[in-house]
Amino acid sequence: MLLTITTTHQPASDLSYLLHKHPGKVQEFEFSTGVAHVFYPEVSEQKCTICLLLDIDPVGLVRRSNGPRGNDFALEQYVNDRPYVASSFMSSAIVKAFSTAMNGRCKEKPELVSVPMPFEIEIAAIPVRGGEAVVKELFEPLGYQIELQRHPVDTHFPEWGESRYFTLRLKNTVTAQQLLSHLYILIPVCDNDKHYWIGQSEAEKLLEKGQDWLPLHPAREFITMRYLKHQRSLANQVMEVLLKDEATPEEDEAEEKPVPEQKKRVHDMRLQTVRDELKQANAKTVVDLGCGEGKLLKLLLEEKQFEKILGMDVSYRSLEIARDKLKLDKISTAQRQRIELIQGSLTYRDKRIEGFDAAALVEVIEHLDEPRLAALEKIVFKYAKPIDVIVTTPNAEYNKKFEGLTAGQMRHSDHRFEWTRAEFQQWGNRIAEEYNYDVVYKPVGEEDPEVGALTQMALFTTKQRTPALNRFL
Ligand code: SAH
Repeated sequence: MLLTITTTHQPASDLSYLLHKHPGKVQEFEFSTGVAHVFYPEVSEQKCTICLLLDIDPVGLVRRSNGPRGNDFALEQYVNDRPYVASSFMSSAIVKAFSTAMNGRCKEKPELVSVPMPFEIEIAAIPVRGGEAVVKELFEPLGYQIELQRHPVDTHFPEWGESRYFTLRLKNTVTAQQLLSHLYILIPVCDNDKHYWIGQSEAEKLLEKGQDWLPLHPAREFITMRYLKHQRSLANQVMEVLLKDEATPEEDEAEEKPVPEQKKRVHDMRLQTVRDELKQANAKTVVDLGCGEGKLLKLLLEEKQFEKILGMDVSYRSLEIARDKLKLDKISTAQRQRIELIQGSLTYRDKRIEGFDAAALVEVIEHLDEPRLAALEKIVFKYAKPIDVIVTTPNAEYNKKFEGLTAGQMRHSDHRFEWTRAEFQQWGNRIAEEYNYDVVYKPVGEEDPEVGALTQMALFTTKQRTPALNRFL
């Protein structure tokens, strides 16, 4: 079983410092099920490749009883794919061979630890339950380019069809630590093998190795379930930790401080304004990013103009409420086909939100702290790139009109910031400039001559319209 990691970072030989492996030596590491060999087929200033070759002892697997139990057919315990494919044994070998790099340390050149490098990875043979779609769901949100080659069951008998084994090639620019932690978790998730016992320590390893990216990965629940071999109670424990940091959307009525009817009225009005702007923009397909409990989605569903409506939120709980409120299991098939809800995070690139005419972010940006907001900008304006983007956010200047809000206090406990009109426009103008959009700002609600309206809204329209989109002009 072979894993190769190549970089063209300059000088490429930095990889040997990062991985703490001398480029001139072949090294061996024993681990529970065999031996891992580490060597470099190529080292130059331009390109450096390191190989991890696993030599798994099939007899040892049976003796140590961490191989297949042989339930499926009598000889499975002795005849199986484990020695020849990437599996959780590969993850054990990665930890054993590259533990320093995985812990984010580099003795000789510590500055390299935080440097994202262009990597190309090849895994010679990996079983993937669910095939290509699963590989995409796992790796694409982390920014990987994927090349998959599926192998037939037997090249001599093409009629036997395709096997579940692939050669997987990945490309990405990340730090070595990120790369290793992605491979460590996602290789066994692809494999989805249930052959060995999983305990509490596996749950801890998952949280530790995935701490920087798993909480916001759109497929975090799927990853957790598969990684923990479908043990629901352990998976629930992990999900609880993963969800702890997420914005906890309270009833959005609690968003503003005034009396309840007024709060509701204010939010309804905001959503109606956004719906009207989307109509005005001639959008036929709309994605509501951070859709929460689906209030805007409900308004959009009532309008025939919107042919395809997608709601996305990081919070599974909110999506469940949205599903109920929109009565998705009761509405007609025709209506049902117009709308979809997905769980995902605006801080990861996600192909599912690309290609829409318009995107709405209603009272969402203020729930992200600054490094995440920087990621969101890219995801929305660089990758998803809708023709129109509507963003609303509280106008901090208005806060002094709320009784019970002291100076500097925010409207909602989960808000990471609230901007004045000048701050919002500074942000919007920069985005427009950087991603080639035009932007205008509008108040939402009655405008106070001194402090403006309660809510502020930015309407972005791309300058790059493709010919097919000219109908929108
Ligand atoms: N747009 C809705 C909800 C606003 S509350 C409405 O106007 O009613 C903010 C929403 O943003 C919450 O539902 C929260 O779960 C969601 N959110 C926060 N961070 C997010 C992220 N990184 N990715 C996607 N959604 C996020």
